[in-house]
Amino acid sequence: MLKAVYPGSFDPMTKGHLDIIMRASNNFDKLIVAVLNNINKSPVFTLEERIDMIKDCTRNMGNIEVKSFSGLLVDFVEKEKAKVVIKGLRDISDFQYELQMSMMNKMLKPEIETMFMLAAPQYSFYSSSAVKEVAKYDGRIDELVPFEIIDTVKKGLSKANNF
Ligand code: ADP
Repeated sequence: MLKAVYPGSFDPMTKGHLDIIMRASNNFDKLIVAVLNNINKSPVFTLEERIDMIKDCTRNMGNIEVKSFSGLLVDFVEKEKAKVVIKGLRDISDFQYELQMSMMNKMLKPEIETMFMLAAPQYSFYSSSAVKEVAKYDGRIDELVPFEIIDTVKKGLSKANNF
């Protein structure tokens, strides 16, 4: 069974993330979406909220599992018996950052491959931070996040912005 792991913060998930999940899941027997539980990053949405939002958008996809991880990505990938890490690339700055990470991961566990998928052109400027910024100033985020989670994202962000 060919298993891949797609890691990220997903704070919150965008249509760009969902597009990568759909395309990757078509090319592997199983895709594990791995939500980073990193206390240093202080996300707006809790780990459980981020996991639930991804589950809400992927219910009808049979070969996807949503899990959390902390610590080294390569240790999680090995524990899950996966061989491949999927990363999405929007632009050259993603590439620069991801290249460094994938080299480091290669050094730590050479048997794990990182595979890059180019962002769909229409989503290549979508990011979780843009969603948060637009919502902060009452802009419309409906186009940026999957329809299943629009209300959850709006509610979560308005609560966060009112603190
Ligand atoms: P962000 O980089 O927006 O904070 P994450 O850390 O959750 O988001 O990103 C997880 C993965 O998804 C990374 O590989 C990132 O490059 C990729 N990604 C993020 N946004 C998009 C997008 N709009 N299209 C394709 N890939 C994306």
